[in-house]
Amino acid sequence: MANTETQEQQEPAGRRGVADRTAVVTGGGRGIGRAIAEVLVADGARVAIFDIEVPKEPVRPDQGANTLFVECDVTDEQSVDAAYSRVESVWGGVDILVNNAGIFALEPLEETSLESWNRMIAVNLTGSFLCSRRALPHMRRQGWGRIICMGSSAGKTGGAKDCAAYGAAKAGVMTLAKAIAGSYAQWGITANALAPALIETDMVAGIADLADQIPVGRLGQPADVAQAVRFLAGEEAGYITGEVMDVNGGFLID
Ligand code: NDP
Repeated sequence: MANTETQEQQEPAGRRGVADRTAVVTGGGRGIGRAIAEVLVADGARVAIFDIEVPKEPVRPDQGANTLFVECDVTDEQSVDAAYSRVESVWGGVDILVNNAGIFALEPLEETSLESWNRMIAVNLTGSFLCSRRALPHMRRQGWGRIICMGSSAGKTGGAKDCAAYGAAKAGVMTLAKAIAGSYAQWGITANALAPALIETDMVAGIADLADQIPVGRLGQPADVAQAVRFLAGEEAGYITGEVMDVNGGFLID
């Protein structure tokens, strides 16, 4: 290879992974979001958890100074703005946003009320829009940012039967990531989505019998998703944008 410069020399001095970055993880009080927050804090980021409920135990008690819980309903524009203002007053601008907050319901389409449809879209999609819109100006000004949206394999396939609203919302959030990627790459901002399936959290409680349908032979764990976020959020993933990464044990290979 003509260019003998090492990887270390090519990367900006002093930056590795997510160290010394400020991150927001929505819905980080439990489940996948909590695992994401733990991994990012362990890697040296400051992490603000935006959630509607205070987590029962602090994330990584030994890293207390690097975590901040902020009560926030991602569907509420004022609540999102106030939560960002709180983080900015403590740590400055947000460098990494993980749009993880979500809800799930199985409902036959003909029995889905407009209220239920709207709520599904509001939490899974509109919340990601509101949080991304609030994060982008700082990222643009500093010429660096990472946005990761939590999609789902259901957003590709329509999901198992009876989850039309969820599937539609997740398709939307994955497309939102692509749209941000195309518009904001010029400012050093990447935006990607994950499409997990069958991750063992409260959301999928009671469907453990599906494990035998997963080629790797087990349900996914929140940490499986957190590792993908860790990679996409890091310094070294700057050439990956507009991508949807499956985290599904081979459940959907497309
Ligand atoms: P959980 O239900 O375990 O956690 C969801 C979190 O989002 C909770 O902390 C919840 O708060 C929070 N939340 C819900 N509504 C809001 C809101 N309006 N504002 C702020 N926070 C909110 O789910 P998972 O950890 O399983 O899922 C995380 C993400 O991953 C979701 O987007 C989900 O759709 C996606 N996903 C999950 C899969 C799985 O198999 N588990 C598969 C594919 C995608 P509270 O505790 O107060 O309810």
